[in-house]
Amino acid sequence: MSFITDWFSKKEPAPNETRTTFNKLLETMRESVIVVGEDTRVFASNRAAYDAFGRRNGPLENKRLSEVIRDLNLHEAFRKALQEGKTLDVGLELVGTNKKYDVRIAPVEVDDKKGAIGVFYDVSQLDRLEKVRQEFLSNISHELRTPLTSILAFVETLEDGAIDDEENNLRFLGVIRRNAERMHRLIDDILELSSIESGRITIEPKPANLPKLVDEVFMNLSNKASERRIELVNEIPPETFVLADAVRLEQMLTNLIDNAVKFNREGGRVTATHARRDGRDVIGVADTGEGIAAEHLPRIFERFYRTDRARSREIGGTGLGLAIVKHLARLHDGEVSVSSTSGQGSVFSIELPAIPA
Ligand code: ADP
Repeated sequence: MSFITDWFSKKEPAPNETRTTFNKLLETMRESVIVVGEDTRVFASNRAAYDAFGRRNGPLENKRLSEVIRDLNLHEAFRKALQEGKTLDVGLELVGTNKKYDVRIAPVEVDDKKGAIGVFYDVSQLDRLEKVRQEFLSNISHELRTPLTSILAFVETLEDGAIDDEENNLRFLGVIRRNAERMHRLIDDILELSSIESGRITIEPKPANLPKLVDEVFMNLSNKASERRIELVNEIPPETFVLADAVRLEQMLTNLIDNAVKFNREGGRVTATHARRDGRDVIGVADTGEGIAAEHLPRIFERFYRTDRARSREIGGTGLGLAIVKHLARLHDGEVSVSSTSGQGSVFSIELPAIPA
C-alpha cells in the first residue's frame, strides 16, 4: 500500500519527523482519503479508504476510480476537479449497502502533476439517526392527534347542546376522559423511554424475590384478568431470587403480563416461569393468545411497532411498552426475547445475569 505521504514527498523527501507525523495523521483519520492522478487512476489513499473501498478487491493504488467506486456523480466531480480546477462537494450512496458519504473533492498539484483529492466523510450513521428521529416524531404526532381529535369532537358535541341530553352527556364525558387518559399514558411512556435512553435512569440490582414480585403484579392485574376469565398462574418456586432492581423488574413484568392478558383469548391462561440457563436467570411470561406472526417478531420491540394498530389503540395500548422492557432489560445487562406460534400463544423471556455465587 502506498500512502499519500510517500507521494507528496517524492520530489524532495520531507524530513522523517514530518513524514511520520503526516502519515500518522492520515492513518488516524476516520475519513477516507483518495488521490487520483490525471489518468483517473488512484495514486494514493489512506487506510480508512482501503477499509471502506478496498477490502474485497485489494489495494486501491493504480486501479481506475471507476473500479474502486462505481458512481457517475463522483467521477464527474473528480473530472471537474482535475480538468477545471474546481472544488466540489458531492453526496455518495453506495448501491447495495447502507453506506452514505459526503465527499469533498479538490484539485491538487504535486511535482507539476495534476491530481484530485477526495475526502470521504461517512454520514451513514447520521442519516440513520435522522430517519429514526423523523419517524419517531411523526409517530408521536399521529398518536397524540388521534385522541385529541376525538376529545375536540365530543367537546363540540356537548357545546352544541348535548350537554342537556341527560341520556348521553355522561357517556360523552366518559369518552373524553378515556382519550385524555390515553394521551396521559402516552406522554408518560414517552418521557419514561426518553429518560431511560438518555441514561438518566440508574438501576440498583439487588437480589429480588421473584415469585413475590410476580404475585404482586398478578394482584394488580387481577381485575383486568378476571373480566376476561383469564387464569394467572405463578409457577416460580418460592424463594427464587434474581439480581435486579425490584422497581424496574416489576415494571418489566407488569408490561409483559399486561400484554399477556390483553392479547389473550377469553378464558385463557398466563403462566410465569423461571429457569437457570448458562448461568443466567430466565423469567418467562407465557400466554394462550393468538400469538404473533413470524414476520412481526423481529420488529416487535421497536417503538410504536404493533401488529394491529387499531386493536392496540382500542385496548388502550401506546405501542411503547415492549420498547421500555427492552431498554430496562439492557440496563440490567440482560435481554428480552420472544418466541411465538401463531394461534397458540407467545412466550416473552427476560434474561438476567445470575447472582454471583
Ligand atoms: P401496546 O401493547 O401498548 O400496543 P407494546 O409495545 O406493549 O405496545 O406491544 C407492541 C405490540 O406487540 C402490541 O401492539 C401487539 O401487537 C404485540 N404484542 C405484545 N405482546 C403480545 C402478546 N402477548 N401476544 C400477542 N401480541 C403481543
